[in-house]
Parts: sequence; structure tokens; C-alpha cells
Amino acid sequence: MYIGCHLSTSNGFESMGKDALSIGANVFQFFTRNPRGSKAKDIDITDVEKLIKIGEENGFGKLLAHAPYTLNPASDKIRTREFAKLVMEDDLNRMEYLPNNLYNFHPGSHVGQGVETGIDYIIDLLNHVIKPHHTTTILLETMAGKGTEIGRSFEELRWILDGVRLSNKMGVCLDTCHIYDGGYDIVNDLDGVLGEFDRIIGLDRLYAIHLNDSKNPLGSKKDRHEKIGDGNIGLEGILNVVRHPKLRHLPFYLETPNELEGYGKEIEMIKSKLA
Ligand code: FE
Ligand code: FE
Ligand code: ZN
Repeated sequence: MYIGCHLSTSNGFESMGKDALSIGANVFQFFTRNPRGSKAKDIDITDVEKLIKIGEENGFGKLLAHAPYTLNPASDKIRTREFAKLVMEDDLNRMEYLPNNLYNFHPGSHVGQGVETGIDYIIDLLNHVIKPHHTTTILLETMAGKGTEIGRSFEELRWILDGVRLSNKMGVCLDTCHIYDGGYDIVNDLDGVLGEFDRIIGLDRLYAIHLNDSKNPLGSKKDRHEKIGDGNIGLEGILNVVRHPKLRHLPFYLETPNELEGYGKEIEMIKSKLA
């Protein structure tokens, strides 16, 4: 299986590869830059090549880059939308140093303008930043529906995908905490939820799973991640996700409240339960 977690980029790419190996991970997620969205460090090609080599030698799955979560492509302010465009355009160009991986972003919040206007802005951004030569698959993350967040429902994600011209370069990243908080009961009816996902979006467009327990109950629209087994989804709920025949081939990325050592323990625990 492909399992890993979110890692800190602060010591560079090779260091993330080593961190992953040290905790038994064969995939990982990282922020493309400071999550507040400031300027990204220049790419050190030698460092990136060392990571690519570690990945090849150790059978890594796809790496998942995460856009700064403070971007809002659906904002009512043109400057905020333009900033999101600039950052994502730059991120996607930089991703070509690590070709054929995944780039995930939060669709955004419509801040009272309404879902339709927000989605129009998101589609406009994607049609601007995605270029035919890109090898990266761009993923919309399923959201909890906090405030005016777009992307809580599968229908909204499908709506965005349908508006993008190079839509074949796009997919979805499913966050277990977010969809549970968004009202999809993956604890009691995982098959039903996946059936709905398949009908509305298509399971062939699902590329990655953010594996998180939730501090809050079903439908709370809160988005507070919990350690695996300590939340309302629970250990069995999480294990049902990782061993589901329609999901088990996908890469799983933990975003639980942990440091490296805690992530290592969760990875080991999940692997042992599946063995
Ligand atoms: Fe996220
Ligand atoms: Fe997530
Ligand atoms: Zn979250």
C-alpha cells in the first residue's frame, strides 16, 4: 500500500525523502511554500534530483504538493483572486521539476457572493493556470463546508471539473475528516458514499486520500482533524477506508495532529492492522 503523511519542507526535498523512509512511509505531502502564501524558495535542482532518486530506489508512490490554504480563488476581491492565480501558476511551473505528481488545493470560499459566482471564479483561475505541457494532476480537495467554503458537496466539485477545458488533467483528493464533517457518513455507509461519489464525479477521478479522524460529529462542518482512532470516525472507520477494494490502490496521506514520530506510529499501526 501507499501510505505517508504531511512533512515539513523546511530542510528541503532530499530531507523529506529521508524523513519518509525513517517512518516507513512511501508517499508524502508537502506545502509548495509557506502556507500563508509567501514567496517560494528557489528550486535547488540537485536537492530535487536526490529526492527523485530516493523515490525510485524505494518504490515511492505519487507525491502530493499542497497549495497554501490561505489562497482564495473564489474571493470577491480581484487582488485576492489574482494573487491565487499567480501563486498557483508559479507552483505548477515549479512542479515540473518533480514531474507526474499531484497538486492539491482548496477550491475557496465564496464569501457571500453565492456558489455560482464563486465557482465561475475558480473555473476561470484553473483555465488560466493549467497548461497543455503540464504533467501534474491538479486535485480539488473535498471540503467540510465551513463558512462559505465551496467543495463540500460532490455536485460542486463536479461543476468545477466540468468547466475546466483541460479537465483531463484534474481530479479529486478526498479528505476523510472533511467529508465526514460535511455530512457524508463514511462510518455507517461507506459503500453508499462511494457509490454517490462514483455517480456524481466518477471514482476514476479520485487520485488521493487525506486520512484523518475528526474531532467533531457527522455533518458538523467544522474541519478539525484528530489522531487516528481518537475521533468520531474511529479506528474501524479509518481501516474500512484503507482496505476498501475501490480505494486501497490509492495513496493515503495522514494530516493528523502529529510530529514525525507520531506519524510513524500511526503508519505502523495501520499497516499492522491490515497485515
Ligand atoms: Fe487541505
Ligand atoms: Fe486535507
Ligand atoms: Zn482539514
